[in-house]
Amino acid sequence: MTEERSTGAPDCAVCRELTIAESEAEGVGDHSRAVDCRVLRRRHARGHEGG
Ligand SMILES: [Zn+2]
Repeated sequence: MTEERSTGAPDCAVCRELTIAESEAEGVGDHSRAVDCRVLRRRHARGHEGG
């Protein structure tokens, strides 16, 4: 079992902020904003992989 959420570096402030923003958006039922955060985080996290 792998969690998509664990993508990214735990020490990275950007990853952390986007993860928090995503869960906050989900918490208030703002799914479009949550999706936005997820897309941004995925795109950003590519930089950690050196790709
Ligand atoms: Zn990051």
